[in-house]
Amino acid sequence: MKVYKFGGASVRNADGVRNLHKIVGDEQNLFIIVSAMGKTTNALEKVFEGLQKGDKSLSREHIASLRSYHDEIIGDLWHDTTKKLDGVERLFAELEQVAETTVYRTEDAELWYDSIVAFGELISTTIISEYLNYVGLLNHWVDMRHCIRTEQRHKDAGVDLETSTTLLREALKDCREKVFIGQGFIGGAPDGTTTTLGREGSDYSAAIVANILDAESMAVWKDVDGILNADPKIFPDAVQIAELNYLDTIELAYSGAQIIHPKTIKPLQNKNIPLYVRPFGDKRKPGTVIRGLSAPIDVPILIMKKNQVLLTIRSRDLSFVLEEKFATIFSLLERYRIKVNLIHNSAVNLSLCVDSSWHIDEAVAGLHKEGFDVMHISDMELLTIRGYNQELWDKYAIGSNVFVRQSTQTTVRVVRKKR
Ligand code: ASP
Ligand code: MG
Repeated sequence: MKVYKFGGASVRNADGVRNLHKIVGDEQNLFIIVSAMGKTTNALEKVFEGLQKGDKSLSREHIASLRSYHDEIIGDLWHDTTKKLDGVERLFAELEQVAETTVYRTEDAELWYDSIVAFGELISTTIISEYLNYVGLLNHWVDMRHCIRTEQRHKDAGVDLETSTTLLREALKDCREKVFIGQGFIGGAPDGTTTTLGREGSDYSAAIVANILDAESMAVWKDVDGILNADPKIFPDAVQIAELNYLDTIELAYSGAQIIHPKTIKPLQNKNIPLYVRPFGDKRKPGTVIRGLSAPIDVPILIMKKNQVLLTIRSRDLSFVLEEKFATIFSLLERYRIKVNLIHNSAVNLSLCVDSSWHIDEAVAGLHKEGFDVMHISDMELLTIRGYNQELWDKYAIGSNVFVRQSTQTTVRVVRKKR
C-alpha cells in the first residue's frame, strides 16, 4: 500500500482534480488523503465566527460562496453546469443546519469549530471520489470520522493509534476496491463527535494511515518543487533540499517551517516509512525525500513563525521564578492549550513566546490568580536561523525590534515585533 496526500492548493479547482487523476494513474493499493479544496477551511472558520459572534448573516454569506465555489468545480468536472451531487447537497444542508440552529456556548467553542470546519474535507473527498468513479477509477470513500479515533478534545486532538488501527483495518477489510479516498484533518472522539487534528493536519492524517497500513511509502503532492531551506516569500535566496532525515524535519516543522505538519514524522519514523514531498505540477521532478538515513542538512535554514505572543511572567512578590513555579505556570498553560515555542528565563522573570490563541486572556487571568504579574505583547514573530553566520544575522535578524535573542553554537532564535 502507498499513501498519497493532496493538499488544498492542489485540488483548488477542476484542473487540480483532473491532475490528481493523472498522478494517481492506474496505481492500485493506494490510500489517498485529501484536504479541503483551496481556502475552504479559512471560509469555514468564518462560518464558525458567525456562530461565535451570533452573526448569522456572516455564516450564511460564507456558506453561499462555498456552495458556488464547489458547484463550479463540479460543473467543470462533469461538463455540466447544472450537475449536482447528492452527497455534496446533503453535506451543505447539514452545514447550514449547524450554522442556523446551534445554540452557541463559549465552553463548546472548539466542539462547534470542529463540527463546522470538518465539512471542507467531507465535501472535497465526496467530489473527488465521485469524479474518479465517473472517469472509471473505482474507489472507496472512507469516512475518517469513524476510522481515526482521537482523544476527547477538540480543535487539536491527539490520535489514539491503537483504536484507530483496529477501526481503519476493519473498515477496509471487505472492500473490493483497491483505491481508497479519505479526509485528512478530521477524526472522531470517543463520544462520537467530530474532531480535527489542528490546522494543516492532513499530513498527519496521511502519516497515521501509512503507519496503520504499513505503507511502503507516503507522498505529499504540493504546489512547490520540494522542501526549501526557507520560505522564498520572506527569504528570496531559498534553495531546495534533496534529502532530509526525520529528526531535522521534526525540528524544522516545529520551528514553524510550513512544509509539513510537525506531528507527521513520528508515525512514519516508527515504521521507517519514507516520505516524499513532490511537486503536484510535474510528476517527473524528484522533490524531497525524508527518511531515516539521510545526512544532516548542510545549508542554513531560516524559519519565521508568525502570530506569536510574548508573555513575561514575574512573581508579584519578586521571589525567584524557579522549578515549582514553572510547574504551576506550565500546567496552567497546558490547561488552556497555549503552545509554547520559546522559553527564556532569569531569576525573577520567565519569558515565553507562545502561539496566539483565543484563550490567552483566560490564561493570563489564571496566572494573575496564582500570584504572577504578566506582561503580554502581541503581534510578535519568532525567527529561527539554524546554521547561522554573521552575514545571515546581519541580513535577516538584526534590528531594534528584537525583544528576546537566544543562541546556541548553531542556532539563533529571536522574538521580535512584527515588521
Ligand atoms: N484543510 C485543513 C486546513 O486547511 C487541513 C489541511 O489542509 O491539512 O488547515
Ligand atoms: Mg489546507
